Amino acid sequence: MADCFTKEQRSEVMRRVKSSNTKLELKVRSALHGRGLRYRLRSDLPGKPDLVFVKARIAVFIDSCFWHGCPEHCRMPANNREYWQRKISRTVERDKRMAETYKNMDWVMHRIWEHDIKQGFDDCIDQIEQLVRSSSSRKKGAQQKINKE
Ligand SMILES: [Zn+2]
Repeated sequence: MADCFTKEQRSEVMRRVKSSNTKLELKVRSALHGRGLRYRLRSDLPGKPDLVFVKARIAVFIDSCFWHGCPEHCRMPANNREYWQRKISRTVERDKRMAETYKNMDWVMHRIWEHDIKQGFDDCIDQIEQLVRSSSSRKKGAQQKINKE
């Protein structure tokens, strides 16, 4: 395939996407911290989640609308569409496999779209909080049951 995109142009696209996602991540992290939720950053888990609740076994991924092929907001750059389309569809495939991987590990893979954070920030944080809190009480219940048996 002819690549009419220069390396510089390509890294410019990547840099822009990456830095906007980093800002969102930081916003999410500080809000969770403000609610007393203690997450970890662990890149040794499959797919490198953005943040992790180890005890609750929840891995949170913040998916950029561009990289993860959001049906509503993924706009291909005008140049070299084919390159980006291929790259993005590989990411979408990988995301599907990742969901399976986490299911098999008995972990929750919680994916949040960039647009969810932008449009309903508090709801996103509520969702994570609920997930974490309900998961730890569920685990505790299961543990007590085991201890009784
Ligand atoms: Zn989107």
